Amino acid sequence: MKRREFIVNSALTLGSAALMTAGCGKKEVIIKEGEIAKRKFRDIEVPLLGFGCMRLPMQGDEIDTDELDKMVDYCMEHGANYFDTAYMYVNSQSETAMGKTLSRYKREDFILADKSPIYKMKSREDVRKIFEEQCKKCKTEYFDFYMCHNINQNTVDTYRNVHMYEELLKLKEEGRIKYLGFSFHGTPQILREVVKEHKWDFAQLQINYLDWDVVKAKEQYEIVQKENIPVIVMEPLRGGGLVNLSDAVMKKLKENHPDAAPAGFGLRWAASRENVITVLSGMSNLEQIKQNIETFMNYKPMSEEEEKTADEMAKIIQSQGEINCTACKYCTEVCPVGINIPAAFSLYNQYKVMKNKMMFTIYYETLEEDERPEKCTKCSLCNKNCPQSLDIPKLLAKIAAEYKTIKEG
Ligand code: SF4
Ligand code: SF4
Repeated sequence: MKRREFIVNSALTLGSAALMTAGCGKKEVIIKEGEIAKRKFRDIEVPLLGFGCMRLPMQGDEIDTDELDKMVDYCMEHGANYFDTAYMYVNSQSETAMGKTLSRYKREDFILADKSPIYKMKSREDVRKIFEEQCKKCKTEYFDFYMCHNINQNTVDTYRNVHMYEELLKLKEEGRIKYLGFSFHGTPQILREVVKEHKWDFAQLQINYLDWDVVKAKEQYEIVQKENIPVIVMEPLRGGGLVNLSDAVMKKLKENHPDAAPAGFGLRWAASRENVITVLSGMSNLEQIKQNIETFMNYKPMSEEEEKTADEMAKIIQSQGEINCTACKYCTEVCPVGINIPAAFSLYNQYKVMKNKMMFTIYYETLEEDERPEKCTKCSLCNKNCPQSLDIPKLLAKIAAEYKTIKEG
């Protein structure tokens, strides 16, 4: 029931004039009593917080469907009715679990997003075949948002060769897909090509305040904005990395905004970009759902002061040595030695957050001898393949030196 409805105007000054005229989002959110903030997108209202269904609650190897029902019910009660699943999420169990839990509701009462797995495609016919399989698993006849999943430099040829867009466009014309888009994890160059190839309804991008400058998130965002394509944000908290902040980063947040919590701050930062439809959070328990919903029940766009704080927090994180590796593994494809580069960077990043030297050495030693950072010959072949422009041999040398110091100390 609409008892109270009004528009909140943001004080943001982020966008250029061109961005202000983009197709959705702009600066307004719709607030209805008892519901989280929403934005108008085409003919529907989309909650600003979307439920990313890739880290669902587990009981052993299976999804805990009782807990999932409770989480979904809480979302639905608060107007958080956007659910984002994919073919391979939770070892390919997510679609079936979401289909089961959502079938307790009328189809028109929730917004369901799914993705076409490019890596599964062998022929043009597979696009529709897999779409039908997904519909069956999700117990639906149509998807509201549907994407070519994970276009990047490795998948873009397959996506083109099987005419994925053309096949999905037919499904859209048949009413089986409402909005057709793509999710992206590649280089800006590939993105420039993809946005110009077809008429997309939206793009799903990895955007958060840490990646904004360092990992070219801003560049990617601006590429799609130029084409006036609305954005769905994924990884707004960088897989939890912006929740477990170091003491120095927390101090910066708290000294400027004593009441702010890291998760809410990161989600609001992402939601405050111009032309964002929704921000996805991969929530795995009811507590996370409640916290995130609370953020969007009382949603306020970021102030200029908060924007500045986010920039400062990002700078502190970077200066603390955290490595912005997305584990794409493009580097390992060309390493003649076989160094496990993403694993080395990941364990180092965790060490920087947790500051646990013993755990760092334990994890380090789970790497095979030949995979360890100290085996790097500094040939630099990997650097050319890194979409994050990391100086890999230099970073590996730093990690190896840190390990040596701890062991010798
Ligand atoms: S610089 Fe090191 S990590 Fe990179 S390709 Fe050469 S040996 Fe492998
Ligand atoms: S170091 Fe670069 S290329 Fe290698 S996994 Fe990380 S982001 Fe990818």
